[in-house]
Amino acid sequence: MSRGLKELEEKVFKKDLCTACGACLSLCPYLRSWKGRVVKLHDCGLEEGRCFAYCPKTGGDLAGTGEQESTQRDEQLELGPVRKILMARGRDPIWREKAQSGGVVSALIDFALKKKVIDAAILTLREDDFLPKGRIVRNREDILNCAGSSYVSGPTLEALNRGPWNGEERIGVVGLPCQAIALRKMRSSSLEKRTPIDKVGLIIGLFCTWALEYERFHAFLKERLGQLNIQKLEITPPPDRLLKVYTDRQLTMVPVDEIRPFIRKGCQVCLDMTAELSDISAGTVEGIEGWNTVIIRSDQGEALFKEAEKEGMIECQSLPEDHLNHLKEASLLKRRRGMDVLQEIGRPEGGKG
Ligand SMILES: Cc1cc2nc3c(=O)[nH]c(=O)nc-3n(C[C@H](O)[C@H](O)[C@H](O)COP(=O)(O)OP(=O)(O)OC[C@H]3O[C@@H](n4cnc5c(N)ncnc54)[C@H](O)[C@@H]3O)c2cc1C
Repeated sequence: MSRGLKELEEKVFKKDLCTACGACLSLCPYLRSWKGRVVKLHDCGLEEGRCFAYCPKTGGDLAGTGEQESTQRDEQLELGPVRKILMARGRDPIWREKAQSGGVVSALIDFALKKKVIDAAILTLREDDFLPKGRIVRNREDILNCAGSSYVSGPTLEALNRGPWNGEERIGVVGLPCQAIALRKMRSSSLEKRTPIDKVGLIIGLFCTWALEYERFHAFLKERLGQLNIQKLEITPPPDRLLKVYTDRQLTMVPVDEIRPFIRKGCQVCLDMTAELSDISAGTVEGIEGWNTVIIRSDQGEALFKEAEKEGMIECQSLPEDHLNHLKEASLLKRRRGMDVLQEIGRPEGGKG
């Protein structure tokens, strides 16, 4: 069976399963990102391509590829490999002011750069037109510019493929579960790399139930708000389930049901809510403002986290049991829903994506 762009088009693009993660971009001249979508500019006759190999939606078995080298971890049905689960937040209020919730992700990247665990990181910046794009960051100011969640998925990993990178740099990546899967597929692929995946020494994954499609969500917000000068987006827990949109002038609240039509179809077949292939995963703690749920998964994740706690960069508490149970339920629910949709469309997915 061939595994090139033609198959990617048939199996992913035509079925609308692409999440625009960016793993296939800047590797060849035929694929481009356009307004939150990946578009094909030209046919390609290659039987085997990196675009297909790295795509989180083309399946493939990730087991036994040396993921998350770890000596002691518990493989949990609902949450994947776990060394520790806790609640944490960045200690410096600067993170919480700009961050989505506890600022653990921004604080850990800042700490990893300071300690030279990594020399640069790939984060996601929401541009003025609201389109998320991958950014190479090397300092605190850039980290703060990227803080907060864009609930739109965008081609973050293109920044990794594009570079530029210098010599021996070590890279950290913050991404959605599909992006963590793509990174692991890049690493395990036997094709010549053409991407600096061997330099990636840290993956921080974000919990994700779904992401929205850019064009339709952008049009919806523009119609609702007029001028789009969005400072922050936030989704409140049930029973309210509201999307809160903060602009420089006002706060607008939209029932989440109104934005559900913009959820990417590719997210509806995803089986991974907690970014299981990351070194550290982070989400919000529903109902406890200003804290993150953190899952430490690998040796390097644990080493970084411990050091950051020891040096007072982050503070931790245990995650209340009802929150842990709720997280497990939510994760299983996403898996079940994903399996149902996959069955409906008649396409069993391999791996975790
Ligand atoms: C599409 C999406 C869906 C999510 N769904 C859930 C959920 O269902 N449950 C839950 O608990 N948490 C969810 N989160 C995660 C949550 O919103 C926070 O990102 C997480 O709790 C980390 O918080 P923080 O305060 O440490 O973040 P911060 O310190 O503010 O850091 C957030 C980081 O996220 C990156 N980022 C922002 N938008 C994107 C994007 N679109 N793609 C890739 N990276 C991005 C930024 O680069 C930044 O570095 C979701 C996030 C996104 C982007």
